[in-house]
Parts: sequence; structure tokens; C-alpha cells
Amino acid sequence: MKIETLTVHAGHSLTPNENEPIVPAITLSTIFERAEDCSYKHGHIYTRASNPNRRALERALVELEGGKAAAAFASGSAATLAVFQALAPGDHVIATEGFYGTTKLLLDVMKPWGLECSLVNTSDLGLLRSAIRPTTKLIWLETPSNPQMRVSDIAEVAKLAHSSGARLLCDNTVGTPILQRCFELGADMVMHSTTKYLCGHSDVLGGAIVSREDDAFFQKIRMIQSAGGAVPSPFDCWLLHRGIRTMSLRVRTQAENALAIAKFLAGHPAVEKSLYPGLETHPGHDIARKQMKQFGGLLSFLVRGGREQAIRATTGLRIIRRASSLGGTESTIEHRASVEPPNFGTPEGLLRLSVGIEHVDDLIADLEQGLSKV
Ligand SMILES: *Cc1c(COP(=O)(O)O)cnc(C)c1O
Repeated sequence: MKIETLTVHAGHSLTPNENEPIVPAITLSTIFERAEDCSYKHGHIYTRASNPNRRALERALVELEGGKAAAAFASGSAATLAVFQALAPGDHVIATEGFYGTTKLLLDVMKPWGLECSLVNTSDLGLLRSAIRPTTKLIWLETPSNPQMRVSDIAEVAKLAHSSGARLLCDNTVGTPILQRCFELGADMVMHSTTKYLCGHSDVLGGAIVSREDDAFFQKIRMIQSAGGAVPSPFDCWLLHRGIRTMSLRVRTQAENALAIAKFLAGHPAVEKSLYPGLETHPGHDIARKQMKQFGGLLSFLVRGGREQAIRATTGLRIIRRASSLGGTESTIEHRASVEPPNFGTPEGLLRLSVGIEHVDDLIADLEQGLSKV
């Protein structure tokens, strides 16, 4: 089945059942009745461990990514933490210098717990190779990276990981299962902040781990999910599952809009640099073209002058909203350096733009007038 069909049907019954609701019910009950022989016929005991809406969502995620098992969490960060907690103190993780939240979990939560970690610009395979240690158990790859939009070669990193006895996990939040097929490129696991493109409407917080194999490592993540309880509510699962139905339309439009906007920004005199893998001038363009169907809905750009000019460029916008996060139907813009700690590495002049599904002419006109204030 093609991905457009899957996004509509994944996790829903594909074998017709008379009188089955086409839109699933929301099961709010936290408890499920046992049979007379004390068994639980449908496998649900207590909602921390499983729930019909979460199970349907997890089934959808497995089908969308083409894996074997999935675990849904209350946020992308909770999903990330579960993977790190499934490792052992003394294990070494290499992670892409990318999303600040993942870095924070590694340095401020997992390092004191005993996990060793290296943050690397994984778009440079030489740097990555030299960071590998005998204790490296996991490479956490984020491509395209948020917010610097660096592209890493998933297939090459998979080879490197496997020849060193490590697993490869791809944070596919920005790539999405529509545009970037991580398992086909050799990844062992995929992580999503489902808050972003899978939900698509900026109204649910969620995360997920999808695994290519239902192996012992995944079972540990499953155990942490149910024992730790950082799980999404039935209503959040239902909303996410509903959002997924339109994902292919949203993501395609967002990627088309983003490419046109990136080109517009590249030619604007107030813009020092437009950072988007879809531009031929982007250093990761050839790799992105090889491993992505389109280049996604997220882009960044450097405003000439730096911090003050970048912030000023956002104040005159009327359609594009100043807000964090990404992946919604509405376009949002953020000055990342002012929400990240000092010296994190994001340039002061950088604005990150999450491109929505509005008409691209309106978005470009909005940016034009914002940049005229610089
Ligand atoms: C948002 C985000 C996360 C974290 O997910 P939350 O749902 O906000 O906890 C992780 N990785 C990337 C690339 C993200 O954009």
C-alpha cells in the first residue's frame, strides 16, 4: 500500500466488520473487566500499560514507518528518555548536535545517571567515526537537524553504527514518514515528536518510538513505558490518530511552500543565508535528494546583522506567528538563540520557520514586509 493510503487507514481495521464504527470511539476507562477465568480477553488491564486508543495509534505508527513495534509516549522527550533509560550506565551514546531538548536530556539527566555521551556534527562522517568508542551502543541521528538544518547520511551512518556494534536511531520528526523512510535506509529505530507533523494541528503533545524489530531492547522500552507511565491520554491518542489521516497532504504542501520560501529568502538582500536542504547550494543537498522525497516543511535563515535585526524581522509579520514548535498547519517563526541557553551554538541571527499550509504567495508577502523592517 502507498503511504497516502496508509495515512488514512493505518491503525484502523482494514478487514470490514459489520457495524464497526469508521471513526473509533474514545475509551476513557482506565480499567477493564476480567473474564471469569481471571484473564483479560482483549489484553487491556489498566490504561498505564495499554488502552484501545493507544494500541490503535501504535499500530498506525508501525504501519506508517514499516517497523514491527511501536510505543507511544506523552511527549517526544518522554520517548527519548525511555530509549536512554533502556541503556546501561557506562554505555556511550553519540548524538547529533541538534535539537536542544535532546541535548539537555543527555547532559543534565542521563550523564549524572552514568550514560556517557558525545554530541557530534554527524553530517561529517569523519567526525562521527572518530567519536565511536568500544562502549558506543547507540547513535542518535537527527536529520535534517533542528534548527541548523544539517543533513546526515542515514545509510552511511547505519553502516558505521552496525560495524561498531551500535544501534542507529533516527529522530524522524522533521523528515516525517512521508518523506524519509529511515528503516529502508538501515535505521534500527525511529523516534517522533508526534507533537509536530503527525499531529499537525499544534494541539497535542506526544512522542513515539518505532522499532524495526520487536527485540529485547524494544521490550525494555515497552517496560519503561508501562512501568514509568509517561503515556499519552486516550483522547490525545485519538486526536493524533485523526491528525495522521491528513498528514500526506499537509506535509507535501508544507514542503512545496518551504522550497519556494527558501528560494525567496536566498535572494533577499536582508538575508545572509537561507538554510534548507532543498536548495542546490545547501551542503547536504545531494544526500537529502538521495534519502528524502521532498525536503520538508522546516527551514532556517540568517538575517544580516544578527540578533536585533532577526528579532525585528519577526515583529512586522501578520500571518506567520511568533511561536515555538513546528509542524502545524499554521506557519510559525522563532528566534531560537533566545530560547536556548547561551553558547548552545545557534547563530544569533538565525530564525527558524515552520512552514504551514497557507498560500505560499501570502507567506512570501508576509516575510517580505517583515524583512523590510530590518
Ligand atoms: C520537538 C522535538 C523533540 C521533542 O519533542 P516534544 O514532543 O516537544 O517533547 C525532539 N526532536 C525534535 C527534532 C523536535 O522537533
